[in-house]
Amino acid sequence: MEKLKYERPVINKINAGTPDKFGMNTRVKVIDEIDGVKVSELLKKYGSPLYVISEKTVRDNYKDAYRAFSNRYPKVQFAWSYKTNYLDAVCRIFHDEGSWAEVVSGFEYDKALSNGIPGGQIIFNGPDKSDEDLLKAIDNSSFIHIDHFDELYSIIRLTKNTNKKAKVAIRVNMDTGIYPQWDRFGFNYENGEAWNAINRIMLADNIDLVGLHTHIGTYIMTPQPYYVAASKLSELAVRTHKKYDHAIKYIDMGGGFASKNTLKGAYLPGKDTCPSFDDYADAITNAILNSEIKPDNLPVLFLETGRALIDDAGYLLGTVLANKRLANARRATIIDIGVNLLFTSFWYQHEIYPAKECSNVTEDTTIYGPLCMNIDIIRDAVQFPVLQKGDHVVIPRIGAYNMTQWLQFITLRPNVVLIDNDKNVNIIREKETLEAFKNLEKIPGHLNGK
Ligand SMILES: *Cc1c(COP(=O)(O)O)cnc(C)c1O
Repeated sequence: MEKLKYERPVINKINAGTPDKFGMNTRVKVIDEIDGVKVSELLKKYGSPLYVISEKTVRDNYKDAYRAFSNRYPKVQFAWSYKTNYLDAVCRIFHDEGSWAEVVSGFEYDKALSNGIPGGQIIFNGPDKSDEDLLKAIDNSSFIHIDHFDELYSIIRLTKNTNKKAKVAIRVNMDTGIYPQWDRFGFNYENGEAWNAINRIMLADNIDLVGLHTHIGTYIMTPQPYYVAASKLSELAVRTHKKYDHAIKYIDMGGGFASKNTLKGAYLPGKDTCPSFDDYADAITNAILNSEIKPDNLPVLFLETGRALIDDAGYLLGTVLANKRLANARRATIIDIGVNLLFTSFWYQHEIYPAKECSNVTEDTTIYGPLCMNIDIIRDAVQFPVLQKGDHVVIPRIGAYNMTQWLQFITLRPNVVLIDNDKNVNIIREKETLEAFKNLEKIPGHLNGK
């Protein structure tokens, strides 16, 4: 029999929790496989830490969202929000399901083109579009979502001497009853700026106002603000039609649906509180269908849902590096996943699970990453079992924003793998190497003596 590892005894206050039908729930949940592939094997083969994406979950989520909207509304088009996760393989799954691309920079725009998306299926958002970006988008008949008057004037200037019309929408921000209100993007509805912008566009020669756009915020935990937002955009569409006899072709409701993660400070877990796609779809489609928009002019409904489609398809796998006692005798566990790889740990209370059966005795623990930096905390307080150096851990629901906001800080980024529907494991981004990293650096001659 294998000798058990010694662990210093501790005195614990019993936190019984709420009983379920089996009694008091004190069992520690374990995640030992993802889509039928063993966590231990993944780490052995591809190294630790490791990002894992489940293709099945991505596709299931997309289908669920598409079903919720297309059941309620005749014309629906999703556009994948590149900044949420722009790994090519991920984008291509969404494109394969029928999603267009939603981009917010020239870099993302080019990435979408390189993924085979035609310009006419790219929605170009964001406050930073250079003249070069705009010309390319006009030339490719992409949908340019204007963020501010300076951008509108640039488009007017750039289209003066061309015979190609720019296809544009304006981004509108508004009071939807959620605070803080996002008013830094687009034109405000209540103060009349949105209507000003529409009038200017309608009088410009080579600009075609095809859509109205809003993105009211992110992680919106109730559907009601979407009803308010869709009603306000519909009202603008009706007003534009009345004054100019010009039908708005689409209403784009942006993203912002909550994922099942739990925000820091939240009272209940995200998976119990986050609305379903059906809830959001009800609010949005009711608002448009109940508006004064005539049935003949019903606009296409665009959605740029990001985190709610990908968050729970991503996992971060890692390894325990050490345990220690802090000055106040509190337990600390150090793992090889730091905030450089889990940017969202700044606002989510990420769940973390052992990757194999372990003791059901848990202790209030702080989980640190490996960075030499005080803020490198994955969880500041979690009831966690005693794991040993070398044991594996799994952090689920990390598919959104972590593979774009990750930082090359202190260490290099690890492999990213995709488990496909046949349970094959495919590397979709190789771990970075010192060589690739240094390739971009230059040493001035006077420092290059030796
Ligand atoms: C970030 C972003 C999205 C996606 O937002 P989620 O909250 O991830 O759904 C959609 N549209 C625009 C304009 C964005 O900036």
